[in-house]
Amino acid sequence: MAARFGNRRTALRGGTVRRTFAPPPHAVLPPRMSIQGVVMVNRLLVWAAGSREVQRQVTENPIARRAAHRFVAGEQLEEALAVAAELNSRGVGGILDLLGEGVRDLAGATRAVEEYEEAIAALAARRLDATISIKLSQLGQTVGRDACRVNLSHILDTAQSAGVRVEVDMEESGLISDTLKLFREVATSHPQTRVAIQAALRRTPLDLEALAALKPRVRLVKGAYAEPVEVAQQGRAEIKAQYKFLTDWLFQHGTDPAFGTHDGELIAYAREAAARVGKGREDFEIQLLYGIRRDLLKELTDSGHRVRVYIPYGSSWYPYLTRRMAERPANLLFFLRALVGR
Ligand SMILES: Cc1cc2nc3c(=O)[nH]c(=O)nc-3n(C[C@H](O)[C@H](O)[C@H](O)COP(=O)(O)OP(=O)(O)OC[C@H]3O[C@@H](n4cnc5c(N)ncnc54)[C@H](O)[C@@H]3O)c2cc1C
Repeated sequence: MAARFGNRRTALRGGTVRRTFAPPPHAVLPPRMSIQGVVMVNRLLVWAAGSREVQRQVTENPIARRAAHRFVAGEQLEEALAVAAELNSRGVGGILDLLGEGVRDLAGATRAVEEYEEAIAALAARRLDATISIKLSQLGQTVGRDACRVNLSHILDTAQSAGVRVEVDMEESGLISDTLKLFREVATSHPQTRVAIQAALRRTPLDLEALAALKPRVRLVKGAYAEPVEVAQQGRAEIKAQYKFLTDWLFQHGTDPAFGTHDGELIAYAREAAARVGKGREDFEIQLLYGIRRDLLKELTDSGHRVRVYIPYGSSWYPYLTRRMAERPANLLFFLRALVGR
């Protein structure tokens, strides 16, 4: 599988700089941090993300595990269910995400299927309002495509019988064609399935056109993976512009669109786009990540929006955590402070 954090030359805010790590296309310069500062932080992150030793040290460190809880519900399903129940009590839906992408053998994929079955059964038994979100690389996509297809169908059938909806996360660009192909293969028999689509990618408008006949259920996100400039827009303005264009597209051609973003401007745009086609707040969903912008969550629920929170859980939280840190280097400082006890 292609490395998530690769070496490349890329443009950053107008200038071309040589970096060993490119932040996700939408990465925001933190307030008062210079470009050199961001580059240094990102170098640190790429080194940390690639180092097995750092991963081992971090994941085995009890303080680090506690700090990771800011973004991850816990290592056990029970903890994710508790978060979902608490959100439900405030009128907010959940999206359960079992961490553990990029399995290296089919046994790992089978374990993930079993764990998802357990999650589906628990959600149904407790009548919780939560979907499950899966990564196809966790179901064996890169080790055995046919097995992945079987695993996906199995989860979809189990979920459908239990009345639980499934969402498919979108991963790095090398996996997108196959993920969309698999989505197309199952979307007719499982029309409730939602797929994540990354606005930053140059190919996305064409991908959506190709799905138009299905009136797809989409979660529109900016895109969390570092991609080369020929694959993805790098500037914030360009990504936002494409996000808005795709928002309008989804209100015209999609079904029950979901917007996975904490960006107030894009949420406001979704509201306006809905109004332009005679739709209201009940006709779309806003999705947020657990632990991020709790103020926004309250604001959205208070103002009557349909909101779901993505709840990652499981022991393989390290890659997820490094993505959240790359998005916002302040998270890295929070994490490092927790480690040194300050
Ligand atoms: C529900 C959900 C599901 C997602 N699924 C996928 C997926 O399947 N595939 C994929 O590639 N990406 C996925 N993403 C991630 C997405 O692509 C972005 O990387 C992420 O949402 C940050 O972009 P943003 O739109 O929130 O805007 P940003 O401009 O990055 O953030 C807007 C504001 O939100 C806050 N914020 C954002 N990120 C953080 C953070 N890490 N820590 C603290 N504050 C933060 C900050 O206040 C920031 O100013 C998902 C996101 C969400 C919300």
